[in-house]
Amino acid sequence: MKYRIQKIFDRFVCQGADCEATCCEGWKIEIDRESYEAYKKIRGKLGLKLLLGIDPKTRCFRMRRRACVFYNSHGLCDLYKELGRDGLCQGCKDYPRHKEDYGDLQEVMLSLSCPEAARMILEDESFGAWVEKIPEDKGEESGRKLWEVSRKILVDLEKVREVLNQILRDRQIPWKQRLAMGLAFAHDVQRHWDTDEDRTWWVGELSRRYLALGAPERFHRKMQGLREDKSASSPKRPRWAERRIRLAGWLRQMGPMEPVLEEWKQTLDEMCTVLYHEWDWDTYHRFCEEFDRENEGLEQEWENLVLYFLNTYLLGAVYDGDVFGKVKLAVFGVLVIRERCLFVYGTEGKAGREELIKAAWQYSRQVENSDHNLEFLEMDFLMNPLFGLHAMLEALQ
Ligand code: SF4
Repeated sequence: MKYRIQKIFDRFVCQGADCEATCCEGWKIEIDRESYEAYKKIRGKLGLKLLLGIDPKTRCFRMRRRACVFYNSHGLCDLYKELGRDGLCQGCKDYPRHKEDYGDLQEVMLSLSCPEAARMILEDESFGAWVEKIPEDKGEESGRKLWEVSRKILVDLEKVREVLNQILRDRQIPWKQRLAMGLAFAHDVQRHWDTDEDRTWWVGELSRRYLALGAPERFHRKMQGLREDKSASSPKRPRWAERRIRLAGWLRQMGPMEPVLEEWKQTLDEMCTVLYHEWDWDTYHRFCEEFDRENEGLEQEWENLVLYFLNTYLLGAVYDGDVFGKVKLAVFGVLVIRERCLFVYGTEGKAGREELIKAAWQYSRQVENSDHNLEFLEMDFLMNPLFGLHAMLEALQ
């Protein structure tokens, strides 16, 4: 059994009552069976509070005005106050620490949905670095259910992730081109994932091609060719208009999602109205250029953001084989968060690091903290032509 832990992990400290958006609000917290049984044994005033505060049908804490009933008026948790950290249910104890199991490998990372974790993820210079550990506590390990995975597929996926990390960190290549190359690489890998006998060979061969000297220039020429073909078919439309059309489609596509953030629906409507109706093509383009120019110094933050999504999801393809879908999710997340920043920039006149951090944790809460919303996107990525390779490359023009 091997544990791989993000380097920044141990530095996380919850902001408690100073948190700008507590995790005790906005979603139902499910209690693990062990904690639930322990809560049932508590007597006295606290026992009664627990009896009334937990819904036995769903095993979730009840909510009062969108917050957990144990979240008090001082912005703190009453259960923590009475029982200490050990008395919290597993989900509350762990959050925003997040574990993913791949057979005998467990990766442990921070979730972007917590504002403090989002700040650390985006600001950390060594983000993406892992520390490997063999657990000291054999007891904990022996009780764990190991999911069966193919070791061979996992090794191939680790290689794919490593190559994506290299492409996305290469500052010699323009930022949007790095995202486009990441998408194209994953697309090519996917073509050989299910059909070819020797997947490992293809992963090696494609890695070599995409990391070769001169690969960025070749890719750039290919993208240029695509653009010229497109301009020939719709000569009146400027190049950047394609990006706006794609992104308008993506944001509208998010409309039917389950609202995790109270203000989600309204935010999305406002963004669509302002970005794609009130602003004409030229205004949209001008704000994009100004926003990019003013935020040139945020390269690391954008890189960390895309690597966060890749590090969190890519190895999950060991279960469903959908490598391309995981990279789509990463690129989609980055571009939607960018649209949010662009909206703030255009309407409030400023959007820098703080706005990016906020847009990132809000997106993460809305999308990542709902299995329903993640599944909704996964299905869309598979079925909807808005998320085909060419359409996604156009969103990166
Ligand atoms: S969201 Fe993060 S910082 Fe805020 S209360 Fe929860 S764990 Fe603490």
